[in-house]
Amino acid sequence: MPELPEVETIARGLAIAVVGKTIDSVTVLLPRVVVPEPERFAELAAGERIAAVGRRGKFVVISLASGRQLVVHLRMTGRLIVQGAGATIPEPYTNVILRFRDGWQLCFADVRTFGRMRLVEPEEPWAAEVGVEPLSSDFSLDRFSSLLHGRTTPVKVLLLDQRRIAGIGNIYACEALWEARIHPNRSSGSLSRPARRRLHHSITDVLRRAIELRGTSARDYVDADGLRGGFQNVLSVYGRHGKECPRCSRSIVRTVVAGRGTWWCRSCQRS
Ligand SMILES: [Zn+2]
Repeated sequence: MPELPEVETIARGLAIAVVGKTIDSVTVLLPRVVVPEPERFAELAAGERIAAVGRRGKFVVISLASGRQLVVHLRMTGRLIVQGAGATIPEPYTNVILRFRDGWQLCFADVRTFGRMRLVEPEEPWAAEVGVEPLSSDFSLDRFSSLLHGRTTPVKVLLLDQRRIAGIGNIYACEALWEARIHPNRSSGSLSRPARRRLHHSITDVLRRAIELRGTSARDYVDADGLRGGFQNVLSVYGRHGKECPRCSRSIVRTVVAGRGTWWCRSCQRS
């Protein structure tokens, strides 16, 4: 599933490709992936100009000139692929096509069809449940400490909770905990101040480094230009069961924390 760095990369690529373009028409090929229902969705979107493309948590947010927003959740296998003028065949598994007046089009493709594209009104509080952005100035050490305070939840589970911190999924939770040398099952509220500081730093550090490398292509993630990311080549623990820990050379283990595969080093993640 694309996490913050992948969604950020997709949003940046899309912004370059589609900002300023006007939507001419919309074709919904799979009705259940859009909200509101397809006819209304198409009617509202047609004629809108793309004002900006950004990200909130794991959502791609396409801002329209009227103040409405197209909020896209890619879920497992969703892709947003831009095609230049003259493209006759949409991307495979396309569920929604936005056609622009200049002949370009944006395909929302999704093999597994869990992804959603929602058109929200300017005043709709769709992000009310989404937690703090870890790369924003709101994500201070104090704010992070208050999220952990008093909680017995394993720290890895807390990192994945989108209502607390937005955008971190399994890959970057594993990587940040390794970087901070913290046991994934450690109860959140029991982390010492130095451990909290290390983890706060490692979260922002791993996310920034992953954005620089345009995300991780663990399975099928590609950006808006159809390109794979590069962070899979520098992962320290995620998916590396049985391989050497880059810090201490012992074997990386895989265990299950709250139903999710978790990769970590028994030797150097003891805090
Ligand atoms: Zn190690």
